[in-house]
Amino acid sequence: MGRPFRQLILKTHARCDLACDHCYVYTMRDQRWSQRPRVMSSSVLRAVALRLEEHVRAHSLSSVEVVFHGGEPLLAGVDHLVEAVRVLSAAGPVRFALQTNGVLLTSAVVDVLADLGVRVGVSLDGDRSAHDRHRRRADGSGSYDAVVAGVRLLVGRPVFAGLLCTVDLRNDPVRCYEALLPFSPPAVDFLLPNANWSSPPPPGSYADWLCAAFDRWYLGGETQVRMFAEIINVLLGGQSSVEGFGTSAPASVVIETDGSLEVSDMLSSAFEGAAATGLNVRTSSFDDALLVPGVVAHQSDALCASCDACDLRKVCGGGVYAHRYRAGSFLNPSVYCADLYALISHVRERVSRDVAQLAVR
Ligand code: SF4
Repeated sequence: MGRPFRQLILKTHARCDLACDHCYVYTMRDQRWSQRPRVMSSSVLRAVALRLEEHVRAHSLSSVEVVFHGGEPLLAGVDHLVEAVRVLSAAGPVRFALQTNGVLLTSAVVDVLADLGVRVGVSLDGDRSAHDRHRRRADGSGSYDAVVAGVRLLVGRPVFAGLLCTVDLRNDPVRCYEALLPFSPPAVDFLLPNANWSSPPPPGSYADWLCAAFDRWYLGGETQVRMFAEIINVLLGGQSSVEGFGTSAPASVVIETDGSLEVSDMLSSAFEGAAATGLNVRTSSFDDALLVPGVVAHQSDALCASCDACDLRKVCGGGVYAHRYRAGSFLNPSVYCADLYALISHVRERVSRDVAQLAVR
């Protein structure tokens, strides 16, 4: 049996009001989203709460994070979120987060989320040109102004969790990072395009981009960039808490609007049904899901022979599971292997230089 789930990704709404061309939910191989109900019903929510309660009890969990996700979770409406928080809070010690495209954030919505204790992360890809290259509405118009207006409502408030920025090599890395800083995000997540060996990412050196962003961040340290902080943390012997680095990230499960339990929505890049467990929260417990081979494989720290022989295995951990897929198998290095190796080596070199200087003082 796999490790107990400490994070539930709740797909409260299965559609989006943007049509981003790099979205891994709608634009990749798995198109089952189109057959699911738009909104998670109250009865599915109650079933999730029941399963959460029994999971917390069975594994004596001190805390579980529930992330409202989509699609665009705010499309479900604020009342739906209020109900979800009420129902799930009664099931155990839960922390809440919400990942949004930011378009529907108003001051009234932000106040409700703050009162509910839901921390909000917003997707913003850099400056206007970087953001609007991908994050557009169905009519082709950019979303930058609407998203920035939403982000401004979060600035300086505890409800603000951070910004999620998808890497595009056409954007200058330093300008991209600096375009996020005026919003004082408590954290920045750089997300590599969801890709694998069978569906490769846009060509170019992600290592060069990330190393330049790292150098700028390392000099300024204005905010936490989770990817970089995590590499340093694991290099210094800490436990990883982010999937894609180290081997100890907290186990998570996705719950779709119809109650289906899924391994990870990033597996949409591999093949139709790659994330399916065949289970539904109405009829199966989270412990049942922990026995499904796909869940066990996703949680396993077993890696391919190349990763096993790699001197950076402990820090890299083979990268994000979905990025390892190559026609029929996940037992491969990451499609970003060369980039990860170069980035981690760069960070290690930079940090060890500073640690050595500290030691001689
Ligand atoms: S750098 Fe490459 S070979 Fe090394 S652990 Fe990561 S994916 Fe595997």
